[in-house]
Amino acid sequence: MFADLHLHTAFSDGTYSPEELAGHGARHGFSCLALTDHDTVEGCARMGAACRKEGIEFLPATELTAEFKGTELHIIGYCIDIEHPKMLSEMEHFQSVRQNRIKEMVERLNRMNVPLREEAVMAIANCRSPGRPHIARALIQINVCKNLDEAFERFLKKGRPAWVPKFKISANEAIALIHAAGGLAVMAHPGLVHHDSMIPDLVAAGLDGIECYHTRHPTTTVEHYLQIAEEHHLLVTGGSDCHGMNKGQPLIGSIKLPYQHVEQLKERLPANNPFKGPFAKMPQP
Ligand code: AMP
Ligand code: ZN
Ligand code: FE
Ligand code: FE
Repeated sequence: MFADLHLHTAFSDGTYSPEELAGHGARHGFSCLALTDHDTVEGCARMGAACRKEGIEFLPATELTAEFKGTELHIIGYCIDIEHPKMLSEMEHFQSVRQNRIKEMVERLNRMNVPLREEAVMAIANCRSPGRPHIARALIQINVCKNLDEAFERFLKKGRPAWVPKFKISANEAIALIHAAGGLAVMAHPGLVHHDSMIPDLVAAGLDGIECYHTRHPTTTVEHYLQIAEEHHLLVTGGSDCHGMNKGQPLIGSIKLPYQHVEQLKERLPANNPFKGPFAKMPQP
């Protein structure tokens, strides 16, 4: 039995619907999937229903963008209450920050004589939680860029001319928010953050786990973070970070996390969390 605990749908910057994603999960033989859209849980109810139809266990989650001493990191909240009022109002704020950032980035592109319209980006995004991949797809649509990599390299990545910094909550606040919503806080893809020195501080702030297995973690990186997880008694998680067809080949299937890690995660949940127990049930949408 194996799981993929890091997946995106079109409710953020992935391309698959929850139903399509659950279908791919079933074809790969997954026993458990978690949806980790950026700053939203809108897709969770449908994903839960689609997984149930496929006989797959489903864990709701969200991937928050946080900051620790000036470094950006992503923190996933697993098994949060998807109706938690504070979590919902905070995510609404993060979404409006994202929408304003799109506007500012398009303005920067326009000043460079790139004839991109904000409406074109928002039509591609068609969600409340737009991000740079949607701008990249819009740039491909108007034939300014050939692919996502070119769009990021020329315009969108940090330090490039259309890049706009994004407001981020502190890592401590993100962990506290996830705990307030009844979930567990896991540091996503630490191998892409390159600042292991922050890990003890995050653990002190209540971090519950670390994503050791990730598509962009080579074997040596996986082993390194498995050791860090053991040192700090952290949960071990993993996932493909699949964004659908956004990045060429769909990544789902590239990581098959042994199911024992899901069991350990569920054991660590607070006693009143409905996802605790042998096979998690999702409320009907
Ligand atoms: P944002 O949420 O707007 O900061 O955008 C972050 C998203 O952009 C994440 O899903 C990343 O995987 C994606 N991303 C970051 N760098 C690149 C890149 N060089 N090529 C393609 N996608 C990227
Ligand atoms: Zn993403
Ligand atoms: Fe991420
Ligand atoms: Fe992700």
